[in-house]
Amino acid sequence: MSENGKAKHIELPASITVRALAQTISASPIEVIKALMANGVMANINQNIDFDTAAIVAAEMGYEATLETTEETAAEDLGELPYWRKVIAKESAEKLVDRPPVVGILGHVDHGKTTLLDAIRNTSVAVGEVGGITQHIGAYQVVRNGRIITFLDTPGHAAFTAMRARGAQGADIVVLVVAADDGVMPQTREALAHAKAAKVPIIVAMNKIDRSNANPERVKRQLSEVGLTADDWGGDTMIVPVSAKQKLGLDDLLEAILLVADDMDIRANPKGTVIGSVIEAKRDRAKGVVATLLIQNGTLSTGDVVLAGTAYGRLKAMFDYRGNKVQQATPSTPVSVMGLSDVPEAGQLFQVVASERDARLIANETLQKQKEALNANRSKISLEKIFEQFKSGEVRELRLIIKADVQGSLEPIMSLLNDLSREEIGINILHAETGTIGENDVMLATASDAIIIGFSVQADPAARKLAESEGISIRLYDIIYRLQEDIEKALKGMLKPQEKLVVLGRAEVRATFKIPKVGFIAGCYVNEGEIRRNAKARVVRAGQNIFEGDFASLKHLSEDVREVRHGFECGIGLRNNQDIKVGDIIECFTTELVPVS
Ligand code: GDP
Repeated sequence: MSENGKAKHIELPASITVRALAQTISASPIEVIKALMANGVMANINQNIDFDTAAIVAAEMGYEATLETTEETAAEDLGELPYWRKVIAKESAEKLVDRPPVVGILGHVDHGKTTLLDAIRNTSVAVGEVGGITQHIGAYQVVRNGRIITFLDTPGHAAFTAMRARGAQGADIVVLVVAADDGVMPQTREALAHAKAAKVPIIVAMNKIDRSNANPERVKRQLSEVGLTADDWGGDTMIVPVSAKQKLGLDDLLEAILLVADDMDIRANPKGTVIGSVIEAKRDRAKGVVATLLIQNGTLSTGDVVLAGTAYGRLKAMFDYRGNKVQQATPSTPVSVMGLSDVPEAGQLFQVVASERDARLIANETLQKQKEALNANRSKISLEKIFEQFKSGEVRELRLIIKADVQGSLEPIMSLLNDLSREEIGINILHAETGTIGENDVMLATASDAIIIGFSVQADPAARKLAESEGISIRLYDIIYRLQEDIEKALKGMLKPQEKLVVLGRAEVRATFKIPKVGFIAGCYVNEGEIRRNAKARVVRAGQNIFEGDFASLKHLSEDVREVRHGFECGIGLRNNQDIKVGDIIECFTTELVPVS
């Protein structure tokens, strides 16, 4: 909409999530989803829509969008960027300065994540002082070669998943802990799926190398099977042998982190818009709400009014990870804060707003919208919905998380799905393993807009509850044939409908007449199929189509008829066409929507 030249101009990438679009055009995601629906596109907040669709929605909200003129890859990447990274991307380049890399540690249970985090925390020089007693606030910092590294110190990868699910994506680098005596395990693969989906570089910490049964070569082979090939094997993954217990290899690991960080653009504007993520939060009897915030851009100060989802408040006090009171916190610094009205969710983005009044207004609005969204969009992802989206050509990939009872059933399912996957529309199996469907699976599905398929397994009650509140579809099967049937159905719908022209009949023009008040009529003989009055017509002369349009009249003898079959004569009038000559062929055809086979 550029009427009166008033539309504001924006640049959009080739693909953008609904959430990012909403933020770009200062609309609520719900407004965007509604506008999409009005245009026949069903998409949820995390889904990508293409530029053309986004531009239509933007136009309806008074913006004139053009395609970003940056390099193709950059344009694509921006569409996927979490919001805080976009905030940084919008800061003018000369104001950006290096910030410490933020590192998340993921891996299979018992592979040594906690031990490793503790070892790094205790052996490294703490920021600002030597050997200070650190508090567990969900993140801490260490210094290596005079450079700071921020570690997210969260149990398991629940917080990481929550962050990703809410689009915050806090970590710049993921350290994947794999025990050298145990190798790649289900949660290793799951963690890998998360890191990949978040497009975060991965460093492998091969832990427990002190164990007598450690088998680094075997683990390296397993890692390369999941796409993490060691650099000394010609791949590009740094695999660092460590022993968290004996504190071996920790320096190498920190070194590797800094090396990877050097290859990345880890910067922010300390004087820019203040934005960050909630790492964890709880209500403390004595202190009220205590939240750990990771600053991602700008500088957070005591006295600022912070808004995180529906929680807000003026910061009464801030503490660093050692429990020292601080007045300010710069990018990549975690701080524990007091003063929020409510407990914000982990992974939630926070921002600084002008006043408590503003914060209250926005928080109330958000609350209202959350309620509406919950009612309007209870079922976020279901096979049926995806089927609709495929039909409209919006989604070209079916993302699945597969859980099965035993490895023996997982394999045939995977190969079946691979067979069903086609070039144009892929099945993307984000994660497949044996075991019950748990909360982690639902989290991964939420973060990735996937459907969970369970084969001869159940979903545990917590997972069911979460799936219901997140609107994630869990489909359980006991018979592989049923599974195949459903996926095939979805895939058929997924295929962009294609118009196929079906010729119903042909008639040869043998005479032409001009009848007063009726118009130009061709006297024909139907020599193939049939001619139908309500189908489409085209005139073929010497092998060329010279007209395509509608029938105006169809007569057999002197009667109006709906169809005339092979072997009969008829009079044909064509709407808006007088150009018919003896010897022309009038073809009668329809178009049908058929799936690509
Ligand atoms: P997490 O579940 O990944 O956090 O694993 P933990 O850090 O709790 O470690 C699980 C077990 O492995 C504990 O008993 C640790 O003492 C042990 N462990 C961790 N790292 C090492 C290591 O480098 N060597 C040996 N031998 N044991 C380790």
